[in-house]
Amino acid sequence: MNHFLSLIDDAFFTGFCAVEDLKKHSFLHPELDLGLKFAVSLAYPLNQAVFQSFDKYPSLIYQNHYRAVNIKLEQEALKLSRSLENAGYRALIAPASCSLDPLHGHLSHRMAAMLSGLGWIGKSALLITPEYAAKIRLITLLTDYPMTEPRPPIEFACCGCDRCIEICPVKAISHDPRSINREKCYKYLKSLIKRNIVQELICGLCIKVCQANAA
Ligand code: SF4
Ligand code: SF4
Repeated sequence: MNHFLSLIDDAFFTGFCAVEDLKKHSFLHPELDLGLKFAVSLAYPLNQAVFQSFDKYPSLIYQNHYRAVNIKLEQEALKLSRSLENAGYRALIAPASCSLDPLHGHLSHRMAAMLSGLGWIGKSALLITPEYAAKIRLITLLTDYPMTEPRPPIEFACCGCDRCIEICPVKAISHDPRSINREKCYKYLKSLIKRNIVQELICGLCIKVCQANAA
């Protein structure tokens, strides 16, 4: 049993994967590559009603919620890392929001969450969970705590759905998640800041429309 996970706020859902797997499928910044064996993924659901506060452009309500959830993620990961260190284990937190440059973090939280059995990577390149679709945010903590009982993987289930492809204002999304045009998306997010619509690199449309391929 991963007893320390019981310390986490009930609203989170969690899983873990091997750091070696994460490195194989994605990347790990050298600052985090300290030989810790497991990557623990923490997912926190975004409030559904927040997505009713905007249609075309992200609302300030959404921006505020995004910021609040990032703080919540960092605080929970901090709490967990303290408990782990108090119990004699090592723990390192990969920041929730862009940590290296606007397009890259210290690791891919989405890949860690997918390998941890929390969902699949959808056409939008977001993590899609059966419970909350794309309406979640993620943080990842690396540890040498001997994790047991991994979740089974969740298969890609976007087939037949094109909602995110259709809604994207700059056509950055295509049928293959690996072909997402991050440059196009980033330029659009920057334009929203330039036009003073929001102050964060957010758009929210592909998150809003995703229903995890439910009817
Ligand atoms: S965040 Fe907006 S611009 Fe970027 S891929 Fe999603 S819908 Fe397109
Ligand atoms: S909107 Fe549809 S195609 Fe896009 S990620 Fe969600 S389920 Fe997949």
